[in-house]
Amino acid sequence: MSAAVEPFPGAEGAVLVTLVNARGTKLCLSNFGARIVGLELRGRDGKPRSVVTRFASTGEYMGAGRYHGAVIGRYANRIGRARFMLNGKSYPLYANDGKNSLHGGQSGFDARIWECVAGEDSAQFYRVSPDMEEGYPGAAEVSVRYTLTDSDEVKIEYLAQAGADTVMNLTNHVYFNLDGFEGDGTVLGHTVEIAAQSFTEVDKELIPTGRILSAAGTALDFTSPRRIGERINAAELAPMGGYDHNFCIEGKGMRRCARVASEVSGIAMEVYSDMPGMQLYSGNFLNGEGGYKRHGALCLETQFYPDSPNNGSFPSAVLHRGEWYRHMTVYRFTV
Ligand code: BGC
Repeated sequence: MSAAVEPFPGAEGAVLVTLVNARGTKLCLSNFGARIVGLELRGRDGKPRSVVTRFASTGEYMGAGRYHGAVIGRYANRIGRARFMLNGKSYPLYANDGKNSLHGGQSGFDARIWECVAGEDSAQFYRVSPDMEEGYPGAAEVSVRYTLTDSDEVKIEYLAQAGADTVMNLTNHVYFNLDGFEGDGTVLGHTVEIAAQSFTEVDKELIPTGRILSAAGTALDFTSPRRIGERINAAELAPMGGYDHNFCIEGKGMRRCARVASEVSGIAMEVYSDMPGMQLYSGNFLNGEGGYKRHGALCLETQFYPDSPNNGSFPSAVLHRGEWYRHMTVYRFTV
């Protein structure tokens, strides 16, 4: 295991951390957005393949690469009508997605330089989100630690605590293509399995209606492995141009949420998490920028359900003053 730290071009204080494990798997991270900026591992043929989208500088991560690989916060995914109520008070947020607030607002956690401490097999990122940053109450101390294990696991541990009651929903927005951006350049041939029999219904602005629907018999049934492309043109996916749905993961605690596999490279990935939901996003809005085309990569974002602060029946994303927010996600790779 080895770690190297070097400057990451384009922003003062930005660094690039590279972790390499005994198998030669390479995980690159940056404190700009506490993000994953590269992951290379060997496929069936023994050749290293790059399996996540990557951009060369912080400048690109402020543009086309926004959200790519980043930690999303303070609230990942959407908050309807860009406001929520907490303890009887209404908190207006920045509307950056029509009338709604997406991925933390105008300048979310993805756009910040975090403090960084690199260890031999891990890197820990830390920042304080001030009280009322992007409209969210309570100064919050947030830490995210990435660990690369010798068995090809990328472990992400999130910890947060706030000085006042707030909402907290952190995720990582890494885009995968397990073919290694070869083949036809899309993820449509990837096989996906998700441990969810239901999903949160959304309206045409992708805001949950509050209803939880059964996936059985729909294009969202991934209880047994199916190819992403098989039903991507189904009528129910037309409003979002593919998959962009929050799945209600069965069970509680650390458990397997999903498995994705590529026949092209022989690489498979399992996702483990202790969060109640997971967004499957099939890169519907990728438009060729950075060389990544529509459906060129997919995200599996472990999370509280979107718009939970406005849906009393969803698992609560409220973080009370002084309580710990803890969330762990593991992406485990096998060939
Ligand atoms: C959302 C998509 C959104 C994308 C932006 C995903 O988490 O579900 O709707 O377009 O992030 O990168």
